[in-house]
Amino acid sequence: MDERIKNLLATLAVLQRADSARAALEKNLAGVEQRLSTLQNQLMAYQEQLKTSQGQLEQVKKQYRTDEVEIKSIDAAIVKSDEKLGYVKTNKEYQSMLKEIDDLKLKKSDIEDRMLSVLDQIETVEKKVICDKADLEDMKREVEEKQKAVRSEAEAQQREVASLHQEREEIWAELDPKMQKMYARAMHQGHGVAVAAVIEGVCQVCRMNIPPQAYIELMRLDALSLCPNCQRIIYPKAVIEVESAGVRD
Ligand SMILES: [Zn+2]
Repeated sequence: MDERIKNLLATLAVLQRADSARAALEKNLAGVEQRLSTLQNQLMAYQEQLKTSQGQLEQVKKQYRTDEVEIKSIDAAIVKSDEKLGYVKTNKEYQSMLKEIDDLKLKKSDIEDRMLSVLDQIETVEKKVICDKADLEDMKREVEEKQKAVRSEAEAQQREVASLHQEREEIWAELDPKMQKMYARAMHQGHGVAVAAVIEGVCQVCRMNIPPQAYIELMRLDALSLCPNCQRIIYPKAVIEVESAGVRD
């Protein structure tokens, strides 16, 4: 067993751990904007809801005002007809004028009924507007809190990424250029994973069995081995101690 190979494999495994942890964090960080905008959209749905209710309220109030104006004009017409009643000459004219006044009063009563129902509607919609305003305020607080949490989590992850990056740079600087090249190639071929542990003869990344002869060579630890299947640098998990790569204080 070559002690240098053993140490090198341990170093490569730590390097891989740092790179994998960083990649996972970066993937998560890439989704942060999406999460923030989803929350923003939730808030906007509540704003729309309130706007709709306010629009409804405006409409029913407008209806009420229109009815008020119409009532005034009917009242004026009734007063005018009442005055005319004193000047009519024939009974026929008199009857016709009475009929006109009755019709106006009937119309007025219909509008007054409608106004009562509109008043009910105003009351209902006003309550809805108050509810929607309260819901919006709650949602605003909730969204702000969630966005704050997302942002602070992202900041913590960014710090972790920076720390992992520094850790990998330090390890990288210690590697000789040949090793750097080998790692970079395995990383490229292995779609972001250059180093794989082998447990009980199985490559833990591609899940293929290492052929017996290759396994014997791997366990000897006198040279670096690649997985015959995925071409990643492999190390026997049972023998290599991997220090945990993680955030340093
Ligand atoms: Zn493999």
